[in-house]
Amino acid sequence: MVLATCCRLTAPLLLPVLTAARRQGRDLRSREPLPAPAFCSLAGCSSKLGLHPIWQGPIRIPGGTRQSPIDIRVRDSVFDPHLQPLSITYDPSTCLQIWNNGYAFLVEFDDSTDKSVIRGGPLKNQFKLKQFHFHWGAIDDWGSEHTVDSKVFPAELHLVHWNCCKYASFEEAIMEDNGLAVIAVFLKIGKHHQELQKLIDALPLVKHKDTLTEFKNFDPSCLLPYCPDYWTYFGSLTTPPLSESVTWIIKKRPIQVSPNQLAGFRNLLFTSVGEEEKNMVDNFRPLQPLMNRTVHSNFKPMLDVARFKEKSEEHAHCPHAGF
Ligand SMILES: [Zn+2]
Repeated sequence: MVLATCCRLTAPLLLPVLTAARRQGRDLRSREPLPAPAFCSLAGCSSKLGLHPIWQGPIRIPGGTRQSPIDIRVRDSVFDPHLQPLSITYDPSTCLQIWNNGYAFLVEFDDSTDKSVIRGGPLKNQFKLKQFHFHWGAIDDWGSEHTVDSKVFPAELHLVHWNCCKYASFEEAIMEDNGLAVIAVFLKIGKHHQELQKLIDALPLVKHKDTLTEFKNFDPSCLLPYCPDYWTYFGSLTTPPLSESVTWIIKKRPIQVSPNQLAGFRNLLFTSVGEEEKNMVDNFRPLQPLMNRTVHSNFKPMLDVARFKEKSEEHAHCPHAGF
């Protein structure tokens, strides 16, 4: 979800280190759930670069055995024939506002009704949409939190929902078992995304940290790929409090956005009005160890990935192949 790393990667020097590590499926952080600055494997980077404030306070991590994000190993994922199709109902009238929280921008929804909910798939209960946000890089070569066979995407969308059958509010659900469900969608560079542009056009109104603007009548289902295929696993928030309360549902197919649209994200600022400007980029957490977890899929992975990767480029909808 909303992010950070022990070494915020604002220094170009460190970015190749991170991307190389992610390609190799390595983790730049310790497996132990301790305060992030103490576990940066790039010794001394925190003092040289400074940390995003989100990572500077005490960080509570209950256990640290199912942290997110992870690298999804396609051949290690297990097809589960019992996984139901995911049912998604979003009502544009529940969209309220955009908020720059100093780490990302959150598009927030009215969750006092059952108008925007998901159910089915790996979920035993109904979950209400609370907000969505993105993670992205300083350039198009990185930015996603999850990776697929070590492939990094330039950005990743997270639609955050809470379990309204077991809990009374998002704030209650966030720390609890089976409290949250997050749908993740990878973004790749390609065609202009017409529906996303309405959001991009509003971003200058929330350029600085702690700014907020009304944003009505937006249907987030326009940001979902047609393909119903997904991976799912149990994990955590990717920002403090890093609670291990999340059922992740990661869509296999990415959506396409234009380079200019992604550049619109990068024009936002981590900083408040009057502070030295720092562009909002690289707001993702590094990969975490899979440990004793299995990633399940609702589709059968193809054995001949290379052959079907070509096909996936040809078909706009749902090739059961690469991405
Ligand atoms: Zn997120």
